[in-house]
Order: sequence, then C-alpha cells, then structure tokens
Amino acid sequence: MIDTLRPAAAGTWTVLALQYARRTAVRGNLFHQRDERSAESQEVAYYVWLAVSQTRTVLIDAGISPATAESMDGLDYFGSPLQLLGELGPTPGEIDTCILTHLHYDHTGVVADLPAARYVVQRRELEYWNGPWAARITSEQWLHSRADTDHISFADRGGRLDIVDGDLELFPGLSVHAVGGHTAGMQVVRVNTRRGPVVVASDASHFYENIEDDSPFAILHALPDMYGAFDRIRELAAGSGTVVPGHDPLVRQRFPAVTDALGAHAVIIG
Ligand SMILES: [Zn+2]
Repeated sequence: MIDTLRPAAAGTWTVLALQYARRTAVRGNLFHQRDERSAESQEVAYYVWLAVSQTRTVLIDAGISPATAESMDGLDYFGSPLQLLGELGPTPGEIDTCILTHLHYDHTGVVADLPAARYVVQRRELEYWNGPWAARITSEQWLHSRADTDHISFADRGGRLDIVDGDLELFPGLSVHAVGGHTAGMQVVRVNTRRGPVVVASDASHFYENIEDDSPFAILHALPDMYGAFDRIRELAAGSGTVVPGHDPLVRQRFPAVTDALGAHAVIIG
C-alpha cells in the first residue's frame, strides 16, 4: 500500500504520522508555566513519522519498544511502531534511513530492529548523552535509554551513522535542522510535499499549544533555545504553515486517515 503513496516527482515526499500509544497526563506536568488549567487532564499521543519518496523510505524517530511499554504504568500501547508500519507495507529491513530527532526513550525504542537503516542524529545530542553531564542531570537522565544510544553510537563502526552539525539536506526535498531547547541537540525535519513544506517538529513542540501560544513544554534542556526553536520551526514551515507536533492528539483530527482499517492510527500529513 505504501507504494501508492510515493509521489512521482523527484524531490517530493509523502509524510505520515503513525500513532502507536497514548496516555492521560495532568497539564501541570506538561507545561512549563502553570496556569488556571494546570489541574486539568490532557491526552498525550505517541507517534513515529514515515516519509516516502520514489526511492526512499525514511522513518522519523523509533517510538517505544514493546518491552519498555510493558513496564510503563498508564500507557495505552496499541503495539510496536514497526507492527503499525508493517500494516502499511514497509518491513523493518526496508527502512533505509532513521532520523532521530532526539535521544529520549520514547523516540529511540526500536532502533535495534532496523537492520538496514542509517541513523541520522545531531552531534550535540550524541555528545551530550555520551558525555560527562548526562549521568549527573537527573531531570533528563530518566528520559534516556543507554542501550538505544549505545546501539546508535556503535552503528558508526559499521558506517551506518550520520552525525550532523546543524542543518543538512539529507536527500532532495528532505532536510534536518538543529534547534535544541527540549534536548541538547534536538533537531526537526523539513519535508517537501505536494501540499508544500511539512515540518516534523517532534518534541521541539509537543503540542500545537506550545508553538501557537509560545508556551514551552515542562521538560527542557535550555529554555531560551526552546523559544528559538518555535521561531525556527515557523520559518521552516513558511508557505504552508504545516507543523507536526510530537505528542498532540489533535494530529488525528487535523489530517485524514490513510486507510479506513487503520483509522486515526495512521494519517497523511502531506
Ligand atoms: Zn517525546
């Protein structure tokens, strides 16, 4: 089925959001600034994104692994992101590139299950998690999987790791951009689609509310950079305004389903 979604024109892509889990959280734990709504609950949705061109199959982030999901209280896990992907067609071995927006556990879970993928990560992100500070900064440490980062780091030996400094066009029509803020080396992905540019912001803006109301998420590495990230994402999305947040259940409502069978678990962004 995925092949019917590949645009004919070179340099043009189709982007899908695949939701593999959800949970309910309290807004006071999600937003940096407390307000009168802090006691309200809010759904947190968990996604990976798939970008396909005529010749490329790119997975953006790697979700939560089944083993980790089992150990999490309150997570409604629909299944492995790879299972969802498989229902659209691509097998894990057909993913040629896995862009990691950042190295939190809910974005790296199935990296070890992608036998042919090149990993794309920002140098600052990799150096932070492999460096001396991460183990001491407990507010961030719990969000990280040592095993997943080791897998990505060791991929360098097999020539399967692309370490990026800043901005880079990986393929015609698809580029990565360092923004920082949420993590040391957070990056976003800009993809040229038939509907104009799509910016997969991932956790540079967890919810639409973060970027639309200039209201940072609660978990962050550097607050000024988080505001800088909002500005950069807006710039990168100029022309279409299509921004895809990392954890917003509204993505399901704003974009159409790929198939009736998968319903809101898989939507077409552009
Ligand atoms: Zn996340």
